[in-house]
Amino acid sequence: AALYRIDGWGAPYFTANTSGNISIRPHGSNTLPHQDIDLLKVVKKVTDPKPFGGLGLQLPVIVRFPDVLKNRLECLQSAFDFAVQSQGYDSHYQGVYPVKCNQDRFVVEDIVKFGSGFRFGLEAGSKPEILLAMSCLVKGNREAFLVCNGFKDVEYISLALLGRKLALNTVIVLEQEEELDLVIDLSRKMNVRPVIGLRAKLRTKHSGHFGSTSGEKGKFGLTTSQIVRVVRKLRESGMLDCLQLLHFHIGSQIPSTALLSDGVGEAAQLYCELVRLGAGMKVIDVGGGLGIDYDGSKSGESDLSVGYTLEEYAEAVVASVRSVCDRRSVKHPVICSESGRAIVSHHSVLIFEAVSAAKPMAQAHHDDIQFLLECDEARVDYEDLYAAVMRGDQESCLLYVDKLKQRCVDGFKDGVLSIEQLASVDGLCEWVLKAIGASDPVQTYNINLSVFTSIPDLWGIDQLFPIVPIHKLDQRPGARGVLSDLTCDSDGKIDKFIGGESSLPLHELDGGGGGSYFLGMFLGGAYEEALGGVHNLFGGPSVVRVSQSDGPHSFAVTRAMPGQSSADVLRAVQHEPEIMFQSLKHRAEKLMHTKGGGEDEDDEELNNVVACLDRSFNNMPYLATEP
Ligand code: PLP
Repeated sequence: AALYRIDGWGAPYFTANTSGNISIRPHGSNTLPHQDIDLLKVVKKVTDPKPFGGLGLQLPVIVRFPDVLKNRLECLQSAFDFAVQSQGYDSHYQGVYPVKCNQDRFVVEDIVKFGSGFRFGLEAGSKPEILLAMSCLVKGNREAFLVCNGFKDVEYISLALLGRKLALNTVIVLEQEEELDLVIDLSRKMNVRPVIGLRAKLRTKHSGHFGSTSGEKGKFGLTTSQIVRVVRKLRESGMLDCLQLLHFHIGSQIPSTALLSDGVGEAAQLYCELVRLGAGMKVIDVGGGLGIDYDGSKSGESDLSVGYTLEEYAEAVVASVRSVCDRRSVKHPVICSESGRAIVSHHSVLIFEAVSAAKPMAQAHHDDIQFLLECDEARVDYEDLYAAVMRGDQESCLLYVDKLKQRCVDGFKDGVLSIEQLASVDGLCEWVLKAIGASDPVQTYNINLSVFTSIPDLWGIDQLFPIVPIHKLDQRPGARGVLSDLTCDSDGKIDKFIGGESSLPLHELDGGGGGSYFLGMFLGGAYEEALGGVHNLFGGPSVVRVSQSDGPHSFAVTRAMPGQSSADVLRAVQHEPEIMFQSLKHRAEKLMHTKGGGEDEDDEELNNVVACLDRSFNNMPYLATEP
């Protein structure tokens, strides 16, 4: 377990148990030992065929743990509650979850349900997102905010205003100055008093990858002169009391509390200025950015880690707002945050199989390398190599291996070497490299997954996630590997791992290609599902929801959804699988009835062909491996 730094990035939710498997501790540090959930048992339950008591689902699978989600939400709330109380802060914390981080219905519904006791709300950034947020919040706490961010048109703003008619606490956050005219105009037409927020472009700049939205040239928000104009226009329209919220977002994965305090302090000054100018200010919304320690280093030195805890984050936000407001004698505002990554990252695990490993297995056959001695040029290279091996001169060996290989490749291209001879020279060179300890110890493990579908940030922005075998952790891994996915794309690989490693310690596959070596990708509950595509038409994985249970097992699968079938992904790119199936079936019927065999034989063959087509449309596109 130490090899994979599980205690670093995994605490308090993931740990290695005495059977050598990963266990989920669903209630974090409040989990009792008998409540631990063995992840391998979950995988067995999910993949075992139905007649054997399983659910018969295909991998890859996303396993969601609603208990972990609940714990994350409660930890965030109690960190702020503690900071508010201990610092004598005169208002409260009331967060929202940005649905773009994971829009899955059950994730959003869970967050609304778990957070309704403390008025936890949602943030939306597009029209479908506001529609889903509105319908979920109908079942939530009436005071919960629905923060409406993003670019807006008439329809978006009308929806937000309509939300207020439905007694939802919608706040229209101006991202562009032009949105103000629409808000003033539509609110009059619809006879609704809006609650308006504005997003400020702060001068404080976060310099990591995720900070490109911050600073004066950031993509979003209003500059100071735009803010002054907005205030003037609202005053002229008799609506300055509607301006109640100040929002900013300096980027995801804020690396340190020093940068956080700097940004929050600047925003708090702006807040106090808006109060001075007569706006009806009530809320400061510090955006997202609460980070995750993906590599377990707690260093904050790269985008992969942050140098603070949840408690320290809350403490820094509350302290910065309080100190500025106290200096300016301004009433303490409600503090809102839009933490996405920190709420949902831990709640799901992506499980996939390594199906085979490419080992260098070339062999040299005596007859095939005999030509080396018969051809003058090749003989010289071969003898040089032989002498270097005898001397134990590694550097020369590498040189002569290259030279010999190149000469033989040239010979092959000229048509004077056969494929068997070339293969035997490769085998000979591999044997030499192994003998002098210079062979590449890293194997390529083929994984039944698409990186583009399931870990898009790995491909797109080089983001790393902890990837770990979920079993055999009590056995020392005998190999090192890089992972290669199913897509026909050379970018579909994983050859960088947390801790700066270029390969991962892995166990040898049973019997040279097992289908029963399970790997887990952790901390990917935010953004990865939302951003994934269907490259090569590999669709979304199966999804199950696993709750802690006090029954005979420590868990219960409360929902199971097979992943997208081949028909589903074909439909997504405008094909019509039903028609495709019919036309292939039609062709089969025509051909199989004219083959001239006995009728029964033809029928059986036809039935087999049709059944095979049917299965192929309805199964997932991933490799079908034996359970
Ligand atoms: N709020 C806004 C406006 C954002 O742009 C983002 C993400 O970039 C978030 C909240 C969520 O940030 P995080 O996932 O870092 O909490």
